Amino acid sequence: MKTIGLLGGMSWESSAEYYRLLNESVRDTLGGFHSARCVLYSVDFAEIERMQAEERWEDAGQALLAAGTALRRAGAEVLVLCTNTMHKVADLLAEGLDIPLLHLADACADSIIRAGLRRVGLLGTGFTMAQPFYRDRLAAHGLEVLVPEPEDRERVHRIIYQELVLGVVTEESRQAYREVMARLVAAGAQGMIYGCTEIELLVGPQDSPVPTFPTTRLHVEAAAGYALGRAPLPPAPGGRVISVPVWKRATRSARRG
Ligand code: GLU
Repeated sequence: MKTIGLLGGMSWESSAEYYRLLNESVRDTLGGFHSARCVLYSVDFAEIERMQAEERWEDAGQALLAAGTALRRAGAEVLVLCTNTMHKVADLLAEGLDIPLLHLADACADSIIRAGLRRVGLLGTGFTMAQPFYRDRLAAHGLEVLVPEPEDRERVHRIIYQELVLGVVTEESRQAYREVMARLVAAGAQGMIYGCTEIELLVGPQDSPVPTFPTTRLHVEAAAGYALGRAPLPPAPGGRVISVPVWKRATRSARRG
């Protein structure tokens, strides 16, 4: 089993989910007392959030690169950056480290394409919804990405920063998300990306009229599959492999008996 480096704390509310889901995934796959081999570097989110608000992306990238380097020294063999938003600096991390970065947008796109969908709604922070770094990566996979109208974007963003990253979950905000999703579906979305790692704490598949793509869960599944040698890293745009991975085929034929 490879050692997974979790770069978290953005926020710790979702990093705790990463840790739980990752261990559950390894336990479910290997059984017995098995759990995930991983190291976690959890940053002080206040520092990162300030850099985001001040648009100091280079500083934020360098801070995360230092954390990623520490994970590498601690034995990490693959880097999992536990936030969609900070994939804004994914290239800086990928170039600065000699271990692979498991890009969250690639894991998400892979799952959407396997589901046979093409046009998806994207919920996330204002940065993720409005800036090109995430949408363009999805578009490079051949996906059409719909984001909410500005007023809805503001609502979705505010609920993330004023509630979800602080562990506050309310029925009122859940209803607000449902309404935003309904409008995206009316605009043509065939699926819904929960493109902020805290959104899964608020809404689930039952809250969306179309299939959902929860990025924390998808990221964890991709990381566990890679660490256990059962799946390759999700392909970057242009490097798509459509065929069913060998291990899935093997499991299927084993079941058929
Ligand atoms: N966890 C969030 C995300 O997935 C937002 C917090 C952050 O700004 O990193 O985008």
